[in-house]
Amino acid sequence: MKTQISFLLFSTLASISSGFNIPPPPYTHKTSLSAKQNSFERDLRFKGAVNFRPVEETSFFQGEGLSKDPRKRAQQLVDAAVNVAKRRDPDQSLFIQTVTEVATSLGPLFAETDEYFFAFKHMLEPEQLYQFRVPWVDDEGRTRVQRGFRVQFSSALGPYKGGLRYHPSVGVDTIKFLGFEQIFKNALTTLNLGGGKGGSDFDPKGKSEAEIMRFCQSFMTALEPYIGPNRDVPAGDIGVGGREIGYLFGQYKRLNQGRFEGVLTGKSADWGGSYVRPEATGWGLVFFAEEAMKYQKNESLLGKRCALSGSGNVAQFAAQQLLKLGATPVTFSDSSGTIYEPDGFTQEKLDLLMEVKAVRGARLTDYAAKSPSSSYHASERPWSVVDEIDLAFPCATQNELEEQDAINLVKAGCVGVFEGANMPTTPGAVEILEAGGCVFGPAKAANAGGVAVSGLEMAQNAQMTQWTEADVEQRLNEIMKDIYHQCADCAETYHDRTQIKEGANIAAFLKVAAALREQGAV
Ligand code: NAP
Repeated sequence: MKTQISFLLFSTLASISSGFNIPPPPYTHKTSLSAKQNSFERDLRFKGAVNFRPVEETSFFQGEGLSKDPRKRAQQLVDAAVNVAKRRDPDQSLFIQTVTEVATSLGPLFAETDEYFFAFKHMLEPEQLYQFRVPWVDDEGRTRVQRGFRVQFSSALGPYKGGLRYHPSVGVDTIKFLGFEQIFKNALTTLNLGGGKGGSDFDPKGKSEAEIMRFCQSFMTALEPYIGPNRDVPAGDIGVGGREIGYLFGQYKRLNQGRFEGVLTGKSADWGGSYVRPEATGWGLVFFAEEAMKYQKNESLLGKRCALSGSGNVAQFAAQQLLKLGATPVTFSDSSGTIYEPDGFTQEKLDLLMEVKAVRGARLTDYAAKSPSSSYHASERPWSVVDEIDLAFPCATQNELEEQDAINLVKAGCVGVFEGANMPTTPGAVEILEAGGCVFGPAKAANAGGVAVSGLEMAQNAQMTQWTEADVEQRLNEIMKDIYHQCADCAETYHDRTQIKEGANIAAFLKVAAALREQGAV
């Protein structure tokens, strides 16, 4: 039976590599098979090593259920992949959303060789998923309990890597969606990083410094057995910044008899961190946007009016870099509303906003009270506030830019949307933006700067050295440009050059799939 299946697999792959009648775009290939990154030839070399195809599914793939038409076949396989996630985890809507988004991009690959379908199916299951109790004592002496999570999704390309999020909405679904995205994002950085994510439903808002420290210490006590500098290296995300990383690191050290090692990134540059890590996601987002606008529209960022959402780490440093490049940020938001400066944020106004949010942890209404030129729009998002805009940078949270927002942006003259947050744009909104002629920079490519510099922090820790700020900024800039070109080149191979989202998903997937094959059935 085994021989028969191997033979079938070999003959399927052989027939694919010898030519395939491919219909017009989006399934047109503009480069030869041999020129493709991670080419099928490479796969054929490893044909005997791992066979992802389960015995019970062979009849489907022998033609009994599968269309001969590549486009229909692709759709059938995309549906089949999404159904795996739906069947296993019907309640995980965010996870299913991201699986659907990635699978849809991979349709052309699935249609060419169903080996890729099975490799993708393999990736849907995390290697490990930990859930733990995090008890902590509040300032009134009451014991409270939070849930903690860590998903170690894929170590195909390196140690698990991904941030920790503290937000009341955090649960298995959120962590799995973020961890799944992280696999592909990390693959695009060209560094050896696997994918993971973690966090807690702890809400840092309104907590005292001492409560935050006690919570971080308890969280690390529960997480510590599962992480390590060559195993899993968490970083920050929503609600987890430099302060929290400090408390988490201190507790890890204490639990390990003072072992001072690169188990977390985002550490202070004064004791083991990398310069430019706090700025990296926001700056990297703007470097990506600069490259994409240059190559897709032949335009620079100079003079562009930019709507940003969020007012945390990513939004603040994206605005800082936009100002450096001569663009004008005009909005920020938080979970209560949007602040709008019709004539734009200057450096002084941005400093005020950073003081309000990063230093005092206050609300945007505090900023509005201090800047008479601004207007505050309670419960509104930037996309419905602006009426004239060139670029948009959603930097707050998932699904914060919906279809009606996309319509507003296109009407307001928006020509580019670059995702600073993870999955901030709903699938319907992406379609509207792309149809409206917007350059679309998907999160896993556009916001990969943070994890890229985390990778550089790991390298510096391993060498027990610290690079200069200028060195790290230059490396970040090069990595973001390289990510853009990887995506655009891959998009051109499988769709067309404007389909950056498809390019990002395919380029990243091919790397992970090749590594999976080469590492055997694990
Ligand atoms: P942050 O510093 O904690 O800031 C988060 C911002 O988003 C705050 O302004 C927050 O407003 C707002 N926000 C959070 N939940 C919201 C909601 N449900 N509705 C509206 N606004 C909401 O976090 P961050 O590090 O900037 O992360 C922002 C996004 O970027 C996240 O999607 C994160 O996964 C992604 N990202 C971050 C990094 C990184 O290096 N930090 C890297 C890659 C991707 P409030 O103050 O009202 O809560």
